[in-house]
Amino acid sequence: MNIQDIILSKRNGNEMSEAEIEFVVKGISNASIPDYQTAAWAMAVYFRGMTERETNSLALAMAYSGEVMDLSEIAGIKVDKHSTGGVGDKTTLVVIPLAAAAGVPAAKMSGRGLGHTGGTIDKFESIPGFQVERSYRQFVDQVNMIKASVVSQTGNLVPADKKLYAIRDVTATVDSIPLIASSIMSKKLAAGAQGIVLDVKVGSGAFMKNEAEALDLAKTMVNIGRGAGREVVALLTDMSQPLGETVGNALEVKEAIDLLQGRGSADLKELSVMLTAYMLILAGQCSTLEQASGRVRNILDSGAGFDKFCELVSFQEGRLDFTLPLYGLPAASLQTEVKSQEEGYVQELDALGVGRTAMLLGAGREKIGDKIDYSVGIQVLRKKGDYVKEGDVLAIIHANDVELIPGAEKQLLACYNLSGEKPMLQPLIIQTIK
Ligand code: URA
Repeated sequence: MNIQDIILSKRNGNEMSEAEIEFVVKGISNASIPDYQTAAWAMAVYFRGMTERETNSLALAMAYSGEVMDLSEIAGIKVDKHSTGGVGDKTTLVVIPLAAAAGVPAAKMSGRGLGHTGGTIDKFESIPGFQVERSYRQFVDQVNMIKASVVSQTGNLVPADKKLYAIRDVTATVDSIPLIASSIMSKKLAAGAQGIVLDVKVGSGAFMKNEAEALDLAKTMVNIGRGAGREVVALLTDMSQPLGETVGNALEVKEAIDLLQGRGSADLKELSVMLTAYMLILAGQCSTLEQASGRVRNILDSGAGFDKFCELVSFQEGRLDFTLPLYGLPAASLQTEVKSQEEGYVQELDALGVGRTAMLLGAGREKIGDKIDYSVGIQVLRKKGDYVKEGDVLAIIHANDVELIPGAEKQLLACYNLSGEKPMLQPLIIQTIK
């Protein structure tokens, strides 16, 4: 077998055999296939696509290209949760303690953010002292003790994806559904959970800008998971505007804590409750969505989710002080209100634009390894459907560099589109793929 023939065959639209897929994945992992041939193969896949069988084989071969997590020492049915990435998406910080408080073992491996989308690990790391690097032993023991742990993905998990993603990133081959689906699902399969709840975002702040593509991605990922013997549910959710009321690491942690204490925005609450409810169903704790969501709401209202969050933070050496305004999270030195220059209903609030503005302030990274500022970000006070008058505060910029504020203000104002007509609001949860 040789890579040149495989590239030619894929370029001509033929289906790859399982052996050819394994050959490519192995070659990418051990660098016996040079980057230029990997890039050519990725481009052939981009244009020719992959059949369901090919995509499933690719995800499996990538999942087993390195270490796989053995979670068998953790008692109970392990259920993971994954979001395809968005702006202001802090649901993991709410969902993990809620699921754990319900008794579902939540052994979560997460990543750092890249581009305009935030990463769960960055958010947890904004808590002073919080440790995301844990040994396998510490991770497993903690989940057995308190049902929850959130750690950063180990370097040895899915090396083929690390290599392939870096090449895709610079060769215009990221936005291919079989490549995205196999990339995400290979990591989920290697992370070892028996159940997986996927939050597939759609809208300007998401990878998938339209519903048809997002649905295709969701179905492809569900298929991969099922093919590998896992239980999977995918929720297609709106990412045309930011989720909740904050964008930026420490601000988002505070918002998640507030929600766990019974305060907070309706959209963040609804999505967090639904994602957790599906985790309970996949864990075999509830049989209907009504029963599961009712149970999650009770856990939230009772404060048990908040107590679990505090336990998780303390087990991972984080320090919070709830008597302080930002609970001891890092605070930016400057706050500037962004005021509306017109009157009307908010028709659009561009998630991508808000995410890019947060990046400009230092909340996100352009490339892997860049340093970020946990304290900066944006409070989004007005969202789609709200009526605002001229001079009303739309958002608050939290910054540390005064020179960045005028540009951020201009960008934020451009994210808001106002008009005299009340907009039709689309549901937050657009579709569920079971
Ligand atoms: N996230 C991933 O992990 N992989 C992709 O290909 C795209 C988004």
